[in-house]
Amino acid sequence: MTKNIVIVGAGQAACSFVARFRSLDSDSRLILIGDEPVYPYQRPPLSKKYALGEMEPEQLQLRAEDWYGENNIHCMLGNPVATIDRNAKTLILSDGQTINWDELFLATGSRARSLPDSIGGELDGVYMLRSAADADAMRQELVTDRQVVIIGGGYIGLEAAASAASLGLKVTVVEAAERILQRVACQETSDFFRKLHQDHGVTIHENTGLERIEELDGRASTVILSNGEQIPVDFVLVGIGIIPNAELATAAELEVAGGIMVDSHCRTTDPHIYAAGDCAAFTYRDQLTRIESVQNAIDQAECAADNMAGQVREYLPYPWFWSDQYEVKLQIAGLNRGYDRIVVRPGNREGALSHWYFTGNTFIAVDAMNDPRSYMVGKKLLETGKIITPKQASDTSLELKTLL
Ligand code: NAP
Repeated sequence: MTKNIVIVGAGQAACSFVARFRSLDSDSRLILIGDEPVYPYQRPPLSKKYALGEMEPEQLQLRAEDWYGENNIHCMLGNPVATIDRNAKTLILSDGQTINWDELFLATGSRARSLPDSIGGELDGVYMLRSAADADAMRQELVTDRQVVIIGGGYIGLEAAASAASLGLKVTVVEAAERILQRVACQETSDFFRKLHQDHGVTIHENTGLERIEELDGRASTVILSNGEQIPVDFVLVGIGIIPNAELATAAELEVAGGIMVDSHCRTTDPHIYAAGDCAAFTYRDQLTRIESVQNAIDQAECAADNMAGQVREYLPYPWFWSDQYEVKLQIAGLNRGYDRIVVRPGNREGALSHWYFTGNTFIAVDAMNDPRSYMVGKKLLETGKIITPKQASDTSLELKTLL
């Protein structure tokens, strides 16, 4: 009997899932349901090349539109799922349609955290950067000599700051935590990127909260910081993290703990429902884990597809991340949580630098700045379980490749 496989969500994880599943099963019906009225697209360029105007909307697409038809993938776009009924094995769309499913894949992703309306979050001229529509709205504000305050010094905030500064805007970044990039990187990496931005004329306030955004005729006009400073603005960008979209799963009484809980086969607490990507949480090295990255969306979705198609295997994440800011490419391999030691290693080429994270003597992650060689070696060491000691990492006369 032909099965109905329904995919909720139309982002990176959803697209990777359908591609993989179709390569293993040419019979089942695949129905991909998305809330945005567009085919799956890449988000990473939104704060980088797309913001700079170096990429056209069509270039964002993960697959050409024809590909879905050619692969017998039925897309229902701009039609969010309202509820999931696990007993009846149906789901109801916002327009009232009922869809039957045999197996479900939840790739609902995440949404940007917003500022409360009470401090100006709803004003005109306050932007977020999560969707292509958000990026299109913000792009028109990126005009030389205008003044932008960016709330949040994470990836979105810093990549957007680099894009805006490169286009000649006056940029201020406000970070509530002690330092920029605190969620993802060590002090040394934060220091590197703080200096990089300051060298490009960006003002960075750390350990500083946002008091409120004041308006003039309904539009953001002044940002008031917790230290009392007032900054006149043409517009504001908010990049203060994400919230996993787990409400559908919660309402369907699946287990949710900071994300939709999945087991090592990417299966939720219902054996006919799988989940992957930003929305999914799992136990990794005895800790509750949710990885916000393109790598995780792709690899976890492909693992879910394999399992659903009967090719049973466990998901073992090998996380990697990247960020482009000005002329610097940051590449990260591994997860750095629990580190207690950093080794700073200058690279072979000018400007190349890497920060190696250790817990005791165990290597767990590396941040490489314009240093693809260190990144590649670090990534391979983690994948193969081979060893590098802090002493070896700090020995610049040692050719790292010999450790592989
Ligand atoms: P993020 O990386 O979590 O950074 C958000 C930052 O804003 C954090 O440092 C956070 O501090 C800070 N913050 C929170 N509330 C604040 C407030 N009221 N005022 C000032 N600062 C505040 O999230 P993001 O930069 O918004 O990125 C969104 C998502 O896109 C993430 O999943 C990110 O990984 C992804 N993304 C990734 C890349 C990449 O990998 N290159 C690029 C762009 C986006 P606390 O941590 O203390 O809350």
